[in-house]
Amino acid sequence: MIIPGELLSRHSPIRIGGPAQYLALPDSINSLLEVLEAISCGRLPGPVRFIGNASNLLFPDTGMAGTVISLKRMSGFRILEDGVVEAEAGAYLPRLAFHAARKGLDGFGFMSGIPGTVGGGVVMNAGTRTSEMAEVLLEVKVVDRSGCLHSFSRKELSFGYRSSPFQCDHSPMGKGLREEYAIVGATFAGFQGDSSRLMDEWVELRSERSRTQPLSMPSLGSVFRNPSGHYSGRLIEQAGWKGKFSGGIQVSSLHANFFVNAGNGLSRDFRGLMDSVRDSVHRNSGVLLEAEVELLPDLSPASV
Ligand SMILES: Cc1cc2nc3c(=O)[nH]c(=O)nc-3n(C[C@H](O)[C@H](O)[C@H](O)COP(=O)(O)OP(=O)(O)OC[C@H]3O[C@@H](n4cnc5c(N)ncnc54)[C@H](O)[C@@H]3O)c2cc1C
Repeated sequence: MIIPGELLSRHSPIRIGGPAQYLALPDSINSLLEVLEAISCGRLPGPVRFIGNASNLLFPDTGMAGTVISLKRMSGFRILEDGVVEAEAGAYLPRLAFHAARKGLDGFGFMSGIPGTVGGGVVMNAGTRTSEMAEVLLEVKVVDRSGCLHSFSRKELSFGYRSSPFQCDHSPMGKGLREEYAIVGATFAGFQGDSSRLMDEWVELRSERSRTQPLSMPSLGSVFRNPSGHYSGRLIEQAGWKGKFSGGIQVSSLHANFFVNAGNGLSRDFRGLMDSVRDSVHRNSGVLLEAEVELLPDLSPASV
């Protein structure tokens, strides 16, 4: 499905974002290849941006030029008898964690509260205090702009705290992967566990999140990375920002590293609040916070 002028706010967990010139939602590798072909022969415009559930992305208010390709409809996965999981890029992490637990496959519980996809999870090396994507990853499959499939084994890739080789300009294939290549799937390995214990753990992790994070409000999760030896939420709270507003965006009064959309919040409110909070925390504690949320540049045709 290809939609011209689709509002990105409709595809954003924080409900922010102007129109994409085109939004493509392929539901298979073949339909993704058709979209890439249409771009390479000029039937659809560039630049291209691949996205998953956009749960770590702040879209610009003025929208995005070119073609945004969301892989969230490529959402299938299979859990094999030997504990290997084969997933398409759009597989939803909490769903994967749920089915792994139900089958007695351990190692996936940490994904239960991360509202992203396999593709976005690998790019971000998403994780919690207990584990991260790199811990269970075996292989990543990507498609390049000319439609060729490549795979990378875990050994070829080096991951860090919320970072992967797919984020930088020197990806395993020598180019910025996010613009040039789509992650189309990944393979993971778990280990044998007890399904009723794992199901209990899944429920407990979900309810712990509901107690400690503002999940009833639209957000992008943690706004800033945790600096080594600190928690960003605590530093923001100590600087007096809990509950404060910038336009329609509020520093959550439950967890200060979450900014929530309290109604009609805009990207510019979110960015303004980030700048003010960063400056204030720096003055207060000497620690310079680094963004975890990715701020997409304003590429609307009107501003180019
Ligand atoms: C309530 C809430 C709680 C959260 N909790 C956590 C947490 O505990 N731990 C954590 O690590 N994160 C957390 N997050 C952040 C977010 O869910 C993760 O970063 C997640 O991995 C992003 O996945 P996504 O599919 O939404 O990716 P997106 O936000 O869509 O994209 C992330 C990046 O990956 C790129 N990308 C996405 N898919 C592809 C693809 N198929 N091919 C190539 N590039 C791609 C995008 O261009 C972008 O650069 C939370 C977010 C929310 C809203």
